[in-house]
Amino acid sequence: MEKGELEDIFKKRSHLVILGAGATIAALPNGDRFGKKSSVMNDFLSNLGLSSILDGVELKTTSTNIEDIYSELYERSDEKAIQVREELEKQVYNYFSSLRIPEEPTIYDLLLLSLTEKDCIVSFNWDDILIQAFQRAKKITSNLPRLAFLHGNVGAGYCKECGEYGARRNRCHSCGSYFIPAPLLYPVREKDYHTHKFIFNQWEVLRYFIASAAVVTVFGYSAPKTDTAAIEIFKDNFLKFGENVRQLDRIEIIEAPNKTHEEIYESWGDFIGMTHGHINIHHSFFDSLLAEFPRRTMEGYTHRYISGYWGSSAIKFESSDNSFTDIGKKIAPLLEDEEKDILEIYPDNYSKNSIDNGY
Ligand SMILES: [Zn+2]
Repeated sequence: MEKGELEDIFKKRSHLVILGAGATIAALPNGDRFGKKSSVMNDFLSNLGLSSILDGVELKTTSTNIEDIYSELYERSDEKAIQVREELEKQVYNYFSSLRIPEEPTIYDLLLLSLTEKDCIVSFNWDDILIQAFQRAKKITSNLPRLAFLHGNVGAGYCKECGEYGARRNRCHSCGSYFIPAPLLYPVREKDYHTHKFIFNQWEVLRYFIASAAVVTVFGYSAPKTDTAAIEIFKDNFLKFGENVRQLDRIEIIEAPNKTHEEIYESWGDFIGMTHGHINIHHSFFDSLLAEFPRRTMEGYTHRYISGYWGSSAIKFESSDNSFTDIGKKIAPLLEDEEKDILEIYPDNYSKNSIDNGY
């Protein structure tokens, strides 16, 4: 295959982002609009001030991980365990429904604006901060990525008749009925991704994108052992794309700085093998391809990793981007180009010295 042909194929491919609890924490470093925090699965109940739910029930597990606690309650048939489990579900739903996105731009706003309609963000999170950010991003551009919620979401709704889904407050695009709230998939060891039509559809979206995306960014999701079914689906579908092109694909991992490389390799080693070791590990969204080449992640990727470009992009998202007006101005040239079907990066000064390394 000619180099030019390969470049053209790559630019058209999609970018998939997989979000876990760590991403919402990175998006809300000071909590939500009212200072309420989100939490990872470990110490979930105490972090959210919900520990008293467990009063009066004796648990065998000594774990503070919500997945272990919920799994035990789920497997028990005594009345108290059932009562506590139902209360837990209610409180978790109410808690996540109560979170409000801060007024200033968050990493989720930038993440959405860094991608376009050929890309996709799938989230394991129950909170709907991403959906709230989507409503704001829509005011800047309608060219935004697809979203899917693999464990359900408090902000998502669906139509029982048509199978359509979207923000819970919206109506079905096909029949006009009000959406009904999407279910939350609670953490049990054997998660059922098939029975509920909404959840099934979300996984179909993931299957499609993981099989075709050239870059997969995993943000704040550490592939817990209880998610083995999810990891198997990732792997099976990742391998469906043609071998020759996949060799140049890349996994990008954004994890909190307290994660060691060993821990990251333990979770993602198989994928790293599948991309022939093409992996980037970052500890901040702002170091990722998403922030470096917003709205042109695949063009930036192709320039750097296939054409051998050594420079960077003149339009970048930075941690100092804290006004929607400024962000809108920053990406305005890209949005204007998109109207004209021009999808190129704006190279920074290094471009003058860019070296074709003869790939
Ligand atoms: Zn409908």
